[in-house]
Amino acid sequence: MAESFDVIVIGGGPGGYVCAIRAAQLGLKTACVENRGALGGTCLNVGCIPSKALLQSSHLFDEANHAFAGHGIKVGKVEIDLPTMMARKDDVVKQNTTGIEFLFKKNKVTYIKGTGRIAKAARGAHEIAVKTLDGKDESYTTKYVVLATGSEVTPLPGITIDEKQIVSSTGALTLDKIPKSLVVIGAGVIGLEMGSVWRRLGAEVTVIEYLDFILPSMDGEVRKQMQRILERQGMKFKLGAKVTKAVAAKGGVTLSVEPAKGGAAEEVKADVVLVAVGRRPYTAGLGLAEAGVTLTNRSFVQADENFQTNVEGIFAIGDVIGGQMLAHKAEDEGVACAELMAGQTAHINYDAIAGVVYTWPEVAGIGKTEEQLKEAGVAYKTGKFPFTANSRARANGDTDGFVKILADATTDRVLGCHIVGPAAGDLIMEVALGMEFGAAAEDIARTCHAHPQLGEAVKEAALSVDKRAIHI
Ligand code: NAD
Repeated sequence: MAESFDVIVIGGGPGGYVCAIRAAQLGLKTACVENRGALGGTCLNVGCIPSKALLQSSHLFDEANHAFAGHGIKVGKVEIDLPTMMARKDDVVKQNTTGIEFLFKKNKVTYIKGTGRIAKAARGAHEIAVKTLDGKDESYTTKYVVLATGSEVTPLPGITIDEKQIVSSTGALTLDKIPKSLVVIGAGVIGLEMGSVWRRLGAEVTVIEYLDFILPSMDGEVRKQMQRILERQGMKFKLGAKVTKAVAAKGGVTLSVEPAKGGAAEEVKADVVLVAVGRRPYTAGLGLAEAGVTLTNRSFVQADENFQTNVEGIFAIGDVIGGQMLAHKAEDEGVACAELMAGQTAHINYDAIAGVVYTWPEVAGIGKTEEQLKEAGVAYKTGKFPFTANSRARANGDTDGFVKILADATTDRVLGCHIVGPAAGDLIMEVALGMEFGAAAEDIARTCHAHPQLGEAVKEAALSVDKRAIHI
């Protein structure tokens, strides 16, 4: 007889593995099916973690080249050992993915290595068929199924990704030499992060973006300032332009680029092209149509606020249901979904999920942008503080950027925060916590911030909401 579980999670990325661990913690007999051969999904294997390893290595190289001298440190000629840099990145990934295997063992989650499919939707005893990585067919039954299959790279018509000359984010993590020229299609998160890595290591980077601005989901002022900073660092931008074709040949890639609003095409050449125009839900081969699971018109799995699909006992979380395609959003959905399956209550505040871009300086945003507040007709106050006026940023030699806090004009409640600056992703978390507790800007302003710290810029921005910043 097929082994039976309370919960089978399909997909072992940040949403899926966290859901499995939490479900097991709550006493549910849980299995997680994953076909990559390693846990952690895109994020740990070919996304967040390897890119951060390369961002850190390339940042150190950049600092050695451009910042050390100002600190009175002479290093002579600094050289890159790309194989060592890549091996270190791979090692960081391995430490993280094997760490999850350990957590599965510790929490008694059964790790099924293979591709899972809903073979039969049957209330209380759904059947999951698995083709194991070593070619066996297995079958399990489960009370609950959690779909956590994530997303895949959105392809561009007219462009074939070969992961050598025309790469996705995956190939951009494994280039075996530093390209002389790199064209990035898409000025979103991946484009700017991976563009930064290769620019720092010596490539001439041109980013081609369909819209008239970079980082479309971020606050307008942040977008403008970040573009200026990246241009000063040497990144080039071609905005309001679309790539209609890219042909790879021995001597490099030739792209056809047209103005987005129409007009004559021009030819652009590059050694390597990175396609980073977004991600789409991954639902292939899951047996969803046969199980009767409804998809949205954009091919996401349709799920309600309790992650329940239209088929009882089949839940879905993370990138596959849409919303912000972020690992931490998926993780929180995984926890909430597990708690709901265990009969508890759970809730996610989607207004307090920070988005971070790990360029240097970093970019971080949470809550509403000024554009969104204006469009919704919300009266708000703005407090802003530049890092040039923060003593620690000066001491560090990292003064690019600012903190901006948006608060309700009447209640003073924090509605959003937008930061360009050193460690912006860490700094924004105190605002996230504040927003979770319904903080007013005054609450942040009256919280004693240790000196000398970058976080004092957050406090000063909060003070500035009430026009009483001290250091500017
Ligand atoms: P994105 O949605 O962040 O950006 C894609 C960009 O491509 C947009 O600016 C869009 O206007 C542009 N674009 C779309 N079609 C185009 C075309 N034909 N020509 C030129 N430009 C075009 O997508 P991404 O950077 O590929 O990232 C994918 C997902 O992964 C995102 O949801 C992102 O949030 C997530 N991610 C997050 C992080 C992080 O949290 N630090 C890092 C990497 C990826």
